[in-house]
Amino acid sequence: MKKTKIIVTLILVFLMLMMFLLYILYRNNIFRRKINNFLESKNEELNIAKEKAEEASKLKTQFISTISHELRTPLYGVVGITNMLSDEHKELANSPHLNSLKFSARYLLSLVNDLLQINKIEENKVVLEHVTMNVADEINMVSNSLSFIATRNNNKVITEIDPTIPEFLVGDKIRLSQILMNLVSNALKFTQNGEVKIKAGLDRKENSLCYIKFEVIDTGMGIAEKDLGKIFDKFVQIDRKEDDYQGAGLGLSIVKKLVKLFGSEIFVKSQEGKGTAFDFTIAFDSDSSKVNEIINNIPVDLSNAQIYKVLVVEDNKINQMVTRKIMEKSNFKTLIVDDGYAAIEALSKEPFDVVLMDINMPLINGFETTKLIRKKGLTIPIIALTAFAKDEISEEAFEAGMNDVLIKPFEPTKLIYSIEMLVKRKND
Ligand code: ADP
Repeated sequence: MKKTKIIVTLILVFLMLMMFLLYILYRNNIFRRKINNFLESKNEELNIAKEKAEEASKLKTQFISTISHELRTPLYGVVGITNMLSDEHKELANSPHLNSLKFSARYLLSLVNDLLQINKIEENKVVLEHVTMNVADEINMVSNSLSFIATRNNNKVITEIDPTIPEFLVGDKIRLSQILMNLVSNALKFTQNGEVKIKAGLDRKENSLCYIKFEVIDTGMGIAEKDLGKIFDKFVQIDRKEDDYQGAGLGLSIVKKLVKLFGSEIFVKSQEGKGTAFDFTIAFDSDSSKVNEIINNIPVDLSNAQIYKVLVVEDNKINQMVTRKIMEKSNFKTLIVDDGYAAIEALSKEPFDVVLMDINMPLINGFETTKLIRKKGLTIPIIALTAFAKDEISEEAFEAGMNDVLIKPFEPTKLIYSIEMLVKRKND
């Protein structure tokens, strides 16, 4: 009896333990399911948030590029017409109003371009080009084009170029001069009655790579120690006091990003009241076979300027006027049509040497018009004149059969050069 009692008690205890364990398992299971559901819903939320963030970033890029495009088109008109006014009315050459208009339009344009560029670099859309360049030429070009600011602040610009730097190097000269332009124009803006030195020296050579050290040194107001870490940030301007100062605080941020694109880093040293020195080192290829190949591919004969017949396809009346003016200045004959269909009709009626084609047009856009022209077997050079950023449309333009892309507002000489080059190439 006693034994049986013990066994029954043991079984009962065992059963209760089992039940307790079962209960715990059941609770655990419910808890796990709850956690799982919670995690799943959080995951879902995270995914939605991620998609929203990606969408927002895409929208931001699209927004900036659309706004810049929309701003550039009318600015092309403003800059062009201002130039026309000062060309046609010589008596207005000294008008402060006209000069302010010119200045403001240019400033707005450079701001739009800066914004677009920052956006491009941040989106990793800027690809460095490989062209032949001469370091001394680039530096002299920068120094010459800024001579106006230099005289305004009574500054002397000194260039020091190491003679051991090879004459021709391969690299992206436009981006290099953009970096130097920003640094030198800052140096000239923040220095009065002083000196700005632009130095380039051969730091070292590794195989065919030449490491060139660039320095921009001024004797200006300098930057306080506490601000040195901030100046490369976007929209940063330190203690802005001068009224006539122009800038949006984007220059150094662009410089830093461009130098990084070259695989390098920019350094700054400064002492308040004494001056500021920026330096960076960039590697350029000096392989002579590459240099020769690029040089051989540059058409240089622009000597016997001819009178070409140009078909301009453009819907914006102001832009029509500006482009016509540029063409007339080079003695080119122009016919202007408002849309792509009219262009195709004009081409079937009389011969032209070149077509200047806007991209954004009602009825049929520039790409489609070009495709139709090519379908007809016409090989006439077609140059896209557009307010879109170049890398945004280049691929589509060339695929459609266009031969070159120029961004409005462009240097008139660039357009003339492109026309001459393409027409000559076609006739060769
Ligand atoms: P911005 O020139 O439009 O103000 P930047 O990004 O080029 O914008 O420069 C940011 C700030 O760095 C300037 O506002 C100025 O305070 C300071 N800075 C840049 N270069 C110099 C310089 N050479 N000397 C003194 N201060 C400078």
